[in-house]
Order: sequence, then structure tokens, then C-alpha cells
Amino acid sequence: MARQQMVGEIKDNVRATRFYLDKTALDEKVMRMMATVPRHEFVPEDAKRFAYDNRPLSIGYGQTISQPYIVAIMTDLLDLQPNSRVLELGTGSGYQAAILSGLVKEVYTIEIVEPLGLAAKKRLARLGYDNVSVKVGDGYYGWEEQAPFDAIIVTAAASHIPPPLKQQLKVGGRMIIPVGTMFLTQQLLLVTKEDKGKLVSKQILPVRFVPVTGGH
Ligand code: SAH
Repeated sequence: MARQQMVGEIKDNVRATRFYLDKTALDEKVMRMMATVPRHEFVPEDAKRFAYDNRPLSIGYGQTISQPYIVAIMTDLLDLQPNSRVLELGTGSGYQAAILSGLVKEVYTIEIVEPLGLAAKKRLARLGYDNVSVKVGDGYYGWEEQAPFDAIIVTAAASHIPPPLKQQLKVGGRMIIPVGTMFLTQQLLLVTKEDKGKLVSKQILPVRFVPVTGGH
């Protein structure tokens, strides 16, 4: 079926980009989520027939649901554990949050476009992803009340790593974030917080995301 074919394409993409990723295959649990979560539930009616294409799709308000291959590699890079608590900036459709939901204990996700955030909240509840909390607001400031997090995933492009997110990452935690100029390519960065709070960034590969917006 279409979802299995999508999973096959992700595997091919991973092999093709193995020199960036430093591996030839992603974590099996991550791939199982990609094979399970019904992406067609997260796209608008007129995009349903493309739901399992391995590409981003418009979700309205100038925003997109990310390419499945990108969702898979970002999830893999977070090195999640069953007891992890994860923060996502950029809920969008809620698809990435649903993928995370099956891999960790709790997901906290923030969306700045109110109608998208409210729709994602409803959708995730309807589909039974009940360890996901959705908040409408500016994710640049993170989610102080729920911090610190074992992992943080930013699914919009930032010009810099938001300092509040650096603070809200646990020592030993990982953040994955596309950093660079709006509308041009960005670099996907894997940021780890070492003992004494030192941050170490590693460039993974060039990507293209919609920008982080908000008033900061
Ligand atoms: N992860 C989403 C796709 C993200 S698209 C999915 O799985 O569908 C990027 C999203 O980030 C958009 O919905 C955009 O509105 C949101 N966004 C941009 N700036 C933001 C900010 N400062 N705080 C929270 N969300 C933001």
C-alpha cells in the first residue's frame, strides 16, 4: 500500500544520504512509526491523494507538513527513549508530534498560527495520541512550565538557536533545528548539551523549511 511505498522511499533516501547521516538505516522504532501513523489524516482534503508522496504538502496559512524523509531523520537524530519528554516548536498539522508520540512518554508542541494549533489539537485527540499536549503561542520562548526536556525539535527555520530553548534542554539532551536564512537552504543542526551546559553543534545536511515567525 501507499504508506509502505513511502517507507521504502525513505529507506532509499537514507541510503543515498548515508554520508551525511553516518548510517545506512534509521532506528527500527522510528521506521515503524513512519509505517503506522496515518499521514492522510494530517493533510487537507484536496491533498489526500498525495498524502503518501515523499514530499512536503501545503496545510494552509502558508505552512507545510514536512517531507516524510525529513520527519524520519529528524526523529532518528533525537535518539529518543521511552521515558523521554520532548518539546516541538511548530505543530503544524500535528504529524511530527504523532510520530514522536509513539516513541516517548510525553510530547509538548507549540504552534503560533491559532487555527492550525487548534485543528492539530483536535486531530491528535481524535486519533488517540493522548500523550501529546498542544499549545497555541510563540515557541521561541519554549514551554517553561514543562521544562527541562530530554529532546527539542524545531520544525521551522530559525536564524539562530533561540536562547530559551537552549536553557530548556536537559544536560545530555539533544536538539534538532534547521538554522539559516529564511527561504534559502538552511543547515539542519544537531545540538547536544554536555556537562556544565556546554552546547555542541553538528551540521547534518542542508534542508529547506518555512521560517520561524513571531515577535522576538
Ligand atoms: N511539524 C509540522 C510542520 C511544521 S511547518 C507537521 O508535522 O505538520 C512549521 C510550523 O511552525 C508552521 O505551522 C508554523 O506556523 C509554525 N511556527 C512558525 N514559527 C513559530 C513559532 N515562533 N512558534 C510556534 N510555531 C511556529
